[in-house]
Amino acid sequence: MNVRDSEAVSALLEAAGHQPARTEDEADLIVVNSCSVRGKAEDKALGKIGLLCFSKRERPTRIVGLMGCMAQRLGPDIFKRVPGLDFSVGTRRCGAIPRLVERVLAGETAIHEISSPDETPDVPDAHTESGFSAFVTILLGCNRRCAYCIVPDVRGPEYSRPAREILAEIEALARNGVREVTLLGQSVMNYGRANAVWSPSDAPSAGAFAEPFARLLEAVAAIPGLVRIRFTSGHPSGCTDELVRAVRSLPQICHHLHLPVQSGSDRILSLMRRGYTRADYLDAVRRLRAAMPDFALTTDVIVGFPGETEADFEETRALMNAADFDNSFIFKYSPRPGTPAADMADDVSDEEKRRRNQVLLEDQDLRGVAANQRLVGTLQEVLVEGPSLRNAARWAGRSPGNKIVIFDPLPGVQPGALARIRITRAAPQTLYGDALT
Ligand code: SAH
Ligand code: SF4
Repeated sequence: MNVRDSEAVSALLEAAGHQPARTEDEADLIVVNSCSVRGKAEDKALGKIGLLCFSKRERPTRIVGLMGCMAQRLGPDIFKRVPGLDFSVGTRRCGAIPRLVERVLAGETAIHEISSPDETPDVPDAHTESGFSAFVTILLGCNRRCAYCIVPDVRGPEYSRPAREILAEIEALARNGVREVTLLGQSVMNYGRANAVWSPSDAPSAGAFAEPFARLLEAVAAIPGLVRIRFTSGHPSGCTDELVRAVRSLPQICHHLHLPVQSGSDRILSLMRRGYTRADYLDAVRRLRAAMPDFALTTDVIVGFPGETEADFEETRALMNAADFDNSFIFKYSPRPGTPAADMADDVSDEEKRRRNQVLLEDQDLRGVAANQRLVGTLQEVLVEGPSLRNAARWAGRSPGNKIVIFDPLPGVQPGALARIRITRAAPQTLYGDALT
């Protein structure tokens, strides 16, 4: 989501006449986009802005701004912590940045532009020219309030963009050559649940689906030129029968979902206020895989949530094996100010959090290798990206399950095309194969 917001700001700045710098050193304007999800992310952003503001002693004309969750969370206090910062912009106002740059050029500094978290946002639809894949924000904010999470405070309550606006954005992307879109939202399948998104004058027929998110998927799949659709992040409550039917029946939708589980222990899930049990989660996994046996799943897990015992942790390990995740992102619990969990004792030592983190990473490596081994011999449809970063003589692309596939280029296989690749070898994070003509 932050990558998308940064991209939108770059595109707006370009539209206002600015040009991208080749290196950070060359840049006259630097905007740091910040994340507040864990304490470490904030410390890093603060360190970075501090250094950039310090660099203004040598380069007094350089403009330094802050955007994103930390700007929203700290409000005007940021200017006390980082003297020299020119502007700080909250999560729902990043479209204002080109205007703020003009004000700084006219002599103002320390400008503070923070929205009230529930104002209706004006979501920028600008994109930079960035290849064949694009992110599209469909849902802002979050209504869930998981006990550990600061996102609802800094990104505000849920707001679903009108379907018409999203479809116009994607149609424009497709006209410019984009082949794959990833629809973004914190709990993306909640799209259209908190506010209306389809007006009566929109396409009269609901097609095969009634739920707002499945309807949106169907409408996106009808846009000419797009060959792939992804969406993230999922929540088990969104895995309705209709959603499963939409994913199975619309051929452009990739059989992959990032479905954060956070914990495998019912006791911890309830303390986290996740809104599902271990059995609910595994049921969602079972229904997805029953409908689509090749379905790839990735997840997020938090280790060391307050009160997490060794037995709770072992339940998480067992669930991760049962769900057979293709990949997982493991985070050590970090107390966030103002969240309900911040009032609970952070009683798992840092050393123990590190150990649990390491155990889950090792488990995941074994599962990842096995999952990739199972793909050797299969035919994968790969969206071709172009020369591989490591070895430009070979090319890279992504499988529907979002795995990187490396192959030798063939005449006629162009970036942006879908190529059929026979997988011949598997490494933990990468597949290798031969392109078929
Ligand atoms: N909306 C998404 C996740 C957004 S935050 C969802 O609900 O799945 C991304 C990830 O950061 C979360 O999935 C969680 O694993 C992690 N995270 C959030 N708050 C955290 C905290 N206080 N400490 C450690 N990890 C956290
Ligand atoms: Fe945070 Fe939970 Fe919302 Fe995800 S669903 S953003 S973890 S509150």
